[in-house]
Amino acid sequence: MATESLILEVQNLKKYFPMARGFFRKTVGYVKAVDGASFFIREGETLGLVGESGCGKTTLGRCILRLIEPTEGEVWFQRSNGEKIELTKLHPEALKNLRREIRMIFQDPYASLDPRLTVMEIVGEPMKIHGMAKGRELEDRVKRLLEVVGLKAQHMRRYPYEFSGGQRQRIGIARALASDPRLIIADEPVSALDVSVQAQVLNLLEELQEELHLTYLFISHDLSVVQHVSDRVAVMYLGKIVELGNATTVYYAAPKHPYTEALLSAIPQADPQRKLKRILLKGDVPSPIQSPPGCKFHPRCRYADTLCSQEEPTLKDVGDHHYVACHYAEQLHLEGVELYD
Ligand code: SF4
Repeated sequence: MATESLILEVQNLKKYFPMARGFFRKTVGYVKAVDGASFFIREGETLGLVGESGCGKTTLGRCILRLIEPTEGEVWFQRSNGEKIELTKLHPEALKNLRREIRMIFQDPYASLDPRLTVMEIVGEPMKIHGMAKGRELEDRVKRLLEVVGLKAQHMRRYPYEFSGGQRQRIGIARALASDPRLIIADEPVSALDVSVQAQVLNLLEELQEELHLTYLFISHDLSVVQHVSDRVAVMYLGKIVELGNATTVYYAAPKHPYTEALLSAIPQADPQRKLKRILLKGDVPSPIQSPPGCKFHPRCRYADTLCSQEEPTLKDVGDHHYVACHYAEQLHLEGVELYD
């Protein structure tokens, strides 16, 4: 159950990767992977972060935990005692301790588990690092965690290659839970899995959220998946958040950004009679090295005019905590998707 208390606030976060050329490796430009993203997450909710591949959502997730160092911006995390900490300025040792409270689930369950370690070592490692348990107690905790994620205690002596994709993702989830986190950043946690297994893992994440009062930042390129798990949704385009709001409002009532409308038009409809016309976006996502002037979406937007190519819109509240970066957010009447039963 989400509360009004904000567990995470991201302010104007940027990650520019320098491009070097020549013998002296002179910096000749920057790849602006994340270019001023701002959003917040309430305690107990799931915020879905969506966008096409390459829009910067994975980099953004990693910058929060400083697995990649951000170039600029602030990330405020509220600890369980109410203390607020700015993560980008935190000393590495303090950051290591804080990573007990914020954990990550990675996309590829095949690559994210060390094949040389047993399940016991993989799941037990965070508890060892944070000095939470050792010996018999550690073993008991790992057993319990495996049962929580739907695996068996006897699985702990096995190696990752002995498991299916869905089981490996469950091991990844058990590892993420091992340090009793409050916030989990799940980066495309089901996209490498078969469709039949995706639903099981999504259900497990929802059950765990309920039982353990977890908060999720759920990153995915798949709007259907995000639709099912999110309380609120943030839509990202070329390193920026362009729409942020309640999932029901953004998906069903009315999206307010033309990019969101185009993404939603590609989701299969519940009622095949209701034909939502698929909006085909012109061209590819522009390069994050040289993004277009004005609104970054204007070369692909069917509503663009001169103002759009000259002036960049800022993320504004258009009512009811629904934030949109479009000059015409309040004038356009865009179409959402049909509500599933
Ligand atoms: Fe389209 Fe203009 Fe809105 Fe950008 S500001 S999304 S180009 S209408």
